Amino acid sequence: MNLNKRDVIRFIEERYGFKTKKVLGQNFLVDKAVIDSIVDGSFVDDTCLAIEIGPGIGVITHELCMKARKVVSIELDKTLIPILEDTLKEFDNFRVINEDVLKVDFEALIKEEMEKDPEIKHVKVIGNLPYYITTPIIMKLFEDNIKCDSITVMMQKEVADRIRAKVNTKEYGTLAIATQYYSDISKVSDASKESFYPKPEVDSTVLRLDIRDAALVNVKDKKLFFRVVKAGFAQRRKTLSNSMQTLGLLSKDQVKEALLNAGIDPIRRAETLTIPEFAHLTDVICDMLRK
Ligand code: SAM
Repeated sequence: MNLNKRDVIRFIEERYGFKTKKVLGQNFLVDKAVIDSIVDGSFVDDTCLAIEIGPGIGVITHELCMKARKVVSIELDKTLIPILEDTLKEFDNFRVINEDVLKVDFEALIKEEMEKDPEIKHVKVIGNLPYYITTPIIMKLFEDNIKCDSITVMMQKEVADRIRAKVNTKEYGTLAIATQYYSDISKVSDASKESFYPKPEVDSTVLRLDIRDAALVNVKDKKLFFRVVKAGFAQRRKTLSNSMQTLGLLSKDQVKEALLNAGIDPIRRAETLTIPEFAHLTDVICDMLRK
């Protein structure tokens, strides 16, 4: 069955009595070119375990099942489970987990699948993300430190712009730094509102985040690095000499000393600091705290 046509979704609504839920970010893809761009852009092949976030009625899942060795999809909406079991019944390499993706133990899931099938050599995460939790999903995948090669996901264009943002732009902030710290980012494609049913209010972009073997920068204390970055951007109009005081770790004079020791003018703002400069500042602060 060709699942990507608008009339097929209407058919599914009639056949299963399914009504899309805005609160769950249910904007289903109805554009085969966009579906193919996600699957092709992920470079999934028959050596891969593909973990899909939010399969909906299974349009991306269908293509993944044709290419991947195994597909595990995580779907929160329990009313979609019997629909997925029906629309994907021709595949024996598919499993659906009815759970909130933010609660999934990815490490255990990957371990279980790899133990079941030693022929799985790579793990790739794919999905047309529910837009209301795009950032928490991406941050969870990074912070859980899961053993995957890449994350290929559709998101709001505005979030993709923030992820890809360069220093000295208004989009540059914690999300750009975190994503660039953990991954190498490539843009796969853009999709207009017309590619979805129902139509969302915003345009979308697909990015592939190739997980780095080693983080972009070396820091003595990763937690402190992200605290420093967050403090810098919490009030982005403040100078660093002011924003770094909100860390609550150093006195006003010590903050100034740390910035000068790191070679950073205290009147600069966070959005002017490159990632290596944030890393260097973190190490200087770390050394001062350990003294
Ligand atoms: N992949 C389908 C497609 O492209 O047509 C559906 C994408 S739709 C944008 C997002 C999907 O994520 C929906 O199926 C929705 O029910 C599911 N979802 C929403 N919140 C979720 C959560 N917390 N955990 C897992 N799935 C979730």
